[in-house]
Amino acid sequence: KWSEILNMIKVEHDVSDISFSTWLKPLKVYKVEGNVVTININNQNIALDYINKKYLLPLKVAIAEATGENFEISFILPDEIEEEIKEKAVASPIDHNENIAKANLNPRYTFDTFVVGNNNKMAHAASVAVAESPGESYNPLFIYGGVGLGKTHLMHSIAHYVLQQNSNAKVLYVTSEYFTNELIESIRNGNNSTMSKFREKYRNIDVLLIDDIQFIIGKESTQEEFFHTFNALHGAKKQIIISSDKPPKDMEILEDRLRSRFEWGLIVDISSPDYETRMAILRKKEELDGYQIDDAVIEYIAKNIKSNIRELEGALNKIMAYANLEKSEINLPLAEKVLKDIISPNQKRIVTPELIIDIVAEHFDLSPADLTGNKRNSKIVFPRQIVMYLCRHMTEVTLKNIGKVLGGRDHTTIMNGINKIEAELETSESTKEIIDILQKKINPSK
Ligand code: ADP
Ligand code: MG
Repeated sequence: KWSEILNMIKVEHDVSDISFSTWLKPLKVYKVEGNVVTININNQNIALDYINKKYLLPLKVAIAEATGENFEISFILPDEIEEEIKEKAVASPIDHNENIAKANLNPRYTFDTFVVGNNNKMAHAASVAVAESPGESYNPLFIYGGVGLGKTHLMHSIAHYVLQQNSNAKVLYVTSEYFTNELIESIRNGNNSTMSKFREKYRNIDVLLIDDIQFIIGKESTQEEFFHTFNALHGAKKQIIISSDKPPKDMEILEDRLRSRFEWGLIVDISSPDYETRMAILRKKEELDGYQIDDAVIEYIAKNIKSNIRELEGALNKIMAYANLEKSEINLPLAEKVLKDIISPNQKRIVTPELIIDIVAEHFDLSPADLTGNKRNSKIVFPRQIVMYLCRHMTEVTLKNIGKVLGGRDHTTIMNGINKIEAELETSESTKEIIDILQKKINPSK
C-alpha cells in the first residue's frame, strides 16, 4: 500500500529512477496518530530539508488519494526515533497499574491498609521516611521480624508510595529466592550477555526491595553478586530495603562485609502485635472486605491468635467462608467450632505430610489438590515429587502412608519420586536450592 503511494508520486511527478531510489524509496511510515502521518526519513539529515520542500505536497496528495482522507505529515529522523524509544522505556506509559505489576507489588499492601501498633511503630515510621525521600534518609533500611508480622506488607507499601509520588521511578520488589534463581539461571546460560543483563537489571534501579534475605545467606555466589549489587546501588544513592527474620548480628553465616553494610543504615524490628493491635487489624480487615461481624467474634479471635497476623486474618477468613457455605449466622459458637483446630494450646509446629503439601503448593503457586490429584504435566509432577522427597526426609511417615496422603498412590510410585529428586540433587544446583528453601519454610526452627 505504502509502496503504491510512493509509486503514484513517481508516476504523477515524473520522478527519475535515481531520485526515486534516493529520496522516496527509503521513506517508511513510522506511525499514524489521529490525522498525522509520521514518516521515517531513513537517511541523513540533509534529506529532511530537501524532501520537505520537494515532496511534502505530493505525499499529502497521494496519501489523500489513496485513503480518501486528509492527513498532516510530519517527518522523523532515525536518531529521534531512537530517543523516543529510549524515553518510552524509561518513562513508560504512565499507567500506574502497569508500574505496580512491573515492580511485583500486591495492590492490597499499602500504607492505607497497614495498621500501626506498638509492635511496628518504628518500622512504620522508618518506612514512611524512606518512601518520602528514597536514598536520602536511611540506606539501607533493614526490617526484621518473625513470620506473618507485616514485613512484606510494609515493603510493598514503600514501593507503592514511591511510585505514586513519581511514576517514573524504577522500583523493583523481589524475594531473595527470586534473586537467587534468576542469578543461577544467568550463570547457567553461561554467557556474558545473560550475566550483564542480570547486572544491568539490578543496578539500574531507584528503589530495590529484597524480601527474606535469610534465604541467600550461606550461598556464596549469590552473596557475592548481591554484595556488588548493593555497592553499586548504595554508591549511586539508590534506596535499598531489606527484610529478614533476624537482625544482621544474629545471622550466623552471613559474610562480615555484607553484615557491616546491612548495619550502615537503620535497622528496625516488627514484633508480635498486642491485643489492641490485633483487634485493630481485624477491624481494618472487616472494613476492607465489607464484613459485619459481632464484637464477640472479633474479640475471640484476637484473644486466641497471638503470634502471627497471617493466621489472624486466616482465622477470620475461615469463619466467613464457613458461614457463607453453611448459610449460618456469624456468632461465637460458630467461631469456636471453626477455629478449634487452629486454636490449640500446643503451638509447636509438627511436620506432617499435610503441612508439607500446603507449603510446597504455596511455593509453586499450586493448590494442594493439584499435588494430590492426577494431573501429569511437568509443572505439577516435579513439585509432587518434591513433596514425596520431603515427606520421606522430614517425617517418620511410611512410604505407603505418604502414598495415601498423596491421593492414594502406591509405594513404588513414591519410591520412584524420591529417587528422582535424589538423583537431581546430585546434579542440579537449582533443585538443591528449592529443597533447601522449602525445608526452611516447613521447619523454620531447624
Ligand atoms: P511477613 O512478610 O512479615 O511474613 P506479611 O507482610 O506477609 O508478613 O503479613 C502477613 C499478613 O498480615 C498480610 O496479609 C498482611 O497484609 C497482614 N498484616 C501484617 N501486618 C499488618 C498490619 N500492621 N496491618 C494490617 N495488616 C497486616
Ligand atoms: Mg514476607
